[in-house]
Amino acid sequence: MNDLRSMTLEELRELMKARGEAAFRADQLFGWLHREKVKSLEAMSNLPKSLRQSLAEDFAVGSVRLHTRQISRDGTRKYLFLLPDDQAVETVLMQYDYGNTVCVSSQVGCRMGCRFCASTIGGLARNLSAGEMLEQIYRVEEEAGVTVGHVVIMGSGEPLDNMENVIRFIRLLSHPKGKNISERNITLSTCGLAPQIYELAKEKLNVTLALSLHAPDDALRRTMMPVAERYSIKETLAACDAYFKATGRRVSYEYSLVRSVNDLPEHAEALSALLKGKNCHVNLIPVNPVKESKFSSSQAQTVRRFQKILEKNGINATIRKRMGADIDGACGQLRRRLME
Ligand code: SAH
Repeated sequence: MNDLRSMTLEELRELMKARGEAAFRADQLFGWLHREKVKSLEAMSNLPKSLRQSLAEDFAVGSVRLHTRQISRDGTRKYLFLLPDDQAVETVLMQYDYGNTVCVSSQVGCRMGCRFCASTIGGLARNLSAGEMLEQIYRVEEEAGVTVGHVVIMGSGEPLDNMENVIRFIRLLSHPKGKNISERNITLSTCGLAPQIYELAKEKLNVTLALSLHAPDDALRRTMMPVAERYSIKETLAACDAYFKATGRRVSYEYSLVRSVNDLPEHAEALSALLKGKNCHVNLIPVNPVKESKFSSSQAQTVRRFQKILEKNGINATIRKRMGADIDGACGQLRRRLME
């Protein structure tokens, strides 16, 4: 590992020990990386110059550079960041009443193949490191001059397809000596890799799990999401139940509404039956049209009708406010423009 920002405090302590440095140097280093969020080793002014120089031979610190920024009328900011290998990732800042939320990407591209999603069109380029995920947040804070209190892992990529780095990212993000964001303020969204959901449950992280369900039956879900060929809805929901049991965290179900595909009253009834009795929450998202896909968005009244049916059946459901609709809202679209 040559990225200091991906290393835990314990790993930094080992590193300092191996270099014959005092243990407190690791704490200083961690503070510069995750509290001061510096972009270079040079900026770590209370570390001996000799140590900074020797670290610079083996390690990089700033890995994320701003390429493009768009600001929406509603204040949403969307960023395209470049990585050292010139790959690009998108990050979004949303300013809600309850605070600033950043949506981070966990991979460059994605290999899950959901038909309505722009991030997956060119396949997976590579996984992001924990440091690259953290830096997305740090650079947004710096650029927008805000403090971020909530993080959703809902940008490009499938976090459970990059599990080790994502868990490392969550532990670093919530570290009391670092950014110190409560695990309760972090949401991890997955298309439903059932075995990895069980693995995540074992980590006993207090993060909210969001499942991208999008259809109430396997046949329909398979037409939208290839992952549905691998795991049935029944298997996937059982994994979510296990997550709830292990952590006590209420699971969110995401349901992107596609006109005339999954937005009919019968779909709302079937979804209600599926989730009946669960302590859960449904997030309804009118699909963001993507140029390369034929899916179009449900009309506002159809979305409200869908929500009313869920509520009548005792299922808690909210309609996701469309933020940044005027700035290439759907994730992956900014990066695709760069690649064209
Ligand atoms: N891979 C993860 C996280 C990234 S996608 C997952 O699948 O959950 C975050 C959410 O945005 C998912 O619910 C995804 O299905 C949804 N999404 C992707 N493209 C969309 C689009 N064009 N319109 C609406 N929602 C979309």
